[in-house]
Amino acid sequence: MKKLIALVLALVLCLSVLAGCAAGNAGKTETGKFKITVSIYPLYDWVKNLTHDAENVELSLLVDNGTDMHSYQPTADDMVGIADSDMFVYVGGESDKWVDDAMNGIIQPDKTEVVNLLDALGDRAKTEEAVEGMQKEAEEEEEAADEHIWLSLKNAETLCESLSEKLQKADAANAETYKKNTESYTEELKKLDASYMEALSAKKYDTLLFADRFPFRYLVDDYGLKYYAAFAGCSAESEASFETVAFLSDKLRELSLPAIITIDGSDKKIAETVLKTSGCKAEILTLDSMQSATADCGETYLSVMESNLEALKKALL
Ligand SMILES: [Zn+2]
Repeated sequence: MKKLIALVLALVLCLSVLAGCAAGNAGKTETGKFKITVSIYPLYDWVKNLTHDAENVELSLLVDNGTDMHSYQPTADDMVGIADSDMFVYVGGESDKWVDDAMNGIIQPDKTEVVNLLDALGDRAKTEEAVEGMQKEAEEEEEAADEHIWLSLKNAETLCESLSEKLQKADAANAETYKKNTESYTEELKKLDASYMEALSAKKYDTLLFADRFPFRYLVDDYGLKYYAAFAGCSAESEASFETVAFLSDKLRELSLPAIITIDGSDKKIAETVLKTSGCKAEILTLDSMQSATADCGETYLSVMESNLEALKKALL
């Protein structure tokens, strides 16, 4: 894989040198466009809201073919697109390690402002946690930061404010528009967060049972929920062991939970096996982590988070 990335980087370097000769430095001054590339859908939807009605902004989503962020590798075209952007917004965790390589020659810091949102979150970034019953990965990563920072409306608010400041600075002509958009969008984020708090304050159960991977740590922590899960974070494992299935079905029975949770993209096999093993009656519900959502998915960050709240109500009320 390392060799392949090096090859792609070398190719991109040649392409950018050629492009540089042909067109000179691209960017706002030359093309009149302020180009923003955003790595994944939820962050893209935030930036789309923040830049609404801003003039001469060109926004593109990098991972837009249904691949999930953990298995994405940039193509030469992707690299050229990023190198040609005025701003590049990404999460900045384990799955984005390729950006470090690209910063070595492809992405020019004086041309492209690189916005790492895990950094922007500072000490509110969490690590993936191992709770009782979770299946360990063969190659255990130590203390990896949990990359699913967008699955918290509170994080969304902080990060949109931080993004907005950067946008206002980098593209001063649209500063007022960015400011206005940020006020109204963070208002909507706050409103939905308040709906979560209100709805979940009436909860009958306080535990979610994920018969799946677990990208929702930020969300459960926001509302003081407990959880069990088959795998930590977005583990590469997808086969649950006998022990994992037995543990989860015991918990389902013991806590008499009304629901088992799966995440987007799951074939629900583990959930079905857990349900069958437990002998309980429970509904299988899906929480959408938006990890492989595309720009034309017909949803927004807020609409997905609203649907997630409806699922949580069924699982906890
Ligand atoms: Zn994930």
